[in-house]
Amino acid sequence: MQARLLVPSPHPRGEAKIALTGVAHRYGNEVAALKEVTLDIAAGEFVCLLGPSGCGKSTLLYALAGHVTPSGGRITIDGKQVAGPSPERLLVFQEPALFPWLTARQNLAFALRAKGLSRRKADARAMDFLKRVQLQGFEGALPHQLSGGMQMRVSLARALAMDPAVLLMDEPFGALDAQTRADMHRLLQSVWTESRKTVVFVTHDVREALVLGDRVVVLAGRPGRVLQDLQVKLPRPRDPDDEVLVTLSRHVRQLIRTARQEESALATGEVHRHAQEHPPAPGARRVLGALAGGVGPPR
Ligand code: ADP
Ligand code: MG
Repeated sequence: MQARLLVPSPHPRGEAKIALTGVAHRYGNEVAALKEVTLDIAAGEFVCLLGPSGCGKSTLLYALAGHVTPSGGRITIDGKQVAGPSPERLLVFQEPALFPWLTARQNLAFALRAKGLSRRKADARAMDFLKRVQLQGFEGALPHQLSGGMQMRVSLARALAMDPAVLLMDEPFGALDAQTRADMHRLLQSVWTESRKTVVFVTHDVREALVLGDRVVVLAGRPGRVLQDLQVKLPRPRDPDDEVLVTLSRHVRQLIRTARQEESALATGEVHRHAQEHPPAPGARRVLGALAGGVGPPR
């Protein structure tokens, strides 16, 4: 049976935890980083923002975090407009950003103490979350004594221990080797399955997006905008080397290429004249239309 594993996301999507409406951003030097991004994210959804370097993924994530105030549009979380950073929206970067003079446990406990937990509670929670990322036995190690992957796990454990309503991740595994990345993907899937946090995860890697996301929002660049919004219905845990997933990622790459080609063809005057006579749907919508029946595994 041909299961539908990749389908266009439904619109409207019902109750939104995070709502972006016509979000645009122009940096001081006049670079138009984002144009009219409209997106609803439900509570507990794991959304991957996928796009090439420079397409505005980080700008969008920082706008969600409240570190960048978009020059146009509106972002609300639980109906309230984002007006600045908040511990309810935690950003995780590619650099683990640990205090080098504190042990793994102290790095977590420090953040938890700052949140108001007693020393005893902070220590217990730190140990619990280090265990969840499989770092039991390393709680006394300083960051420089840990590998890059282990440092990233400490950083992830700290973010999860802080229990933010929304976790924002900016290509967090970009600097890790392939094996460690695969380990992190497994780990993140298992902790997310337990916690069901709302996660917005930025990546330029199609396969990473398909392994992690319930939903993959494909962005195009210059200026950044939503090209496609796809639901991923592969069962978890997902394996990046799974044949079906590899086939789907090839398919997504092809969809992105086609949508881009159609967009740039539409932008030329020649096609434009033709378009006026025979109006086609915009590139992205056409490709989505082709996807309407969903894409399944090869037979
Ligand atoms: P991505 O994360 O997808 O690589 P970014 O959001 O970092 O993309 O950047 C989007 C666009 O905005 C790029 O053209 C980039 O050069 C520009 N840009 C990003 N940050 C700044 C900044 N602080 N000042 C000026 N331009 C910026
Ligand atoms: Mg970026």
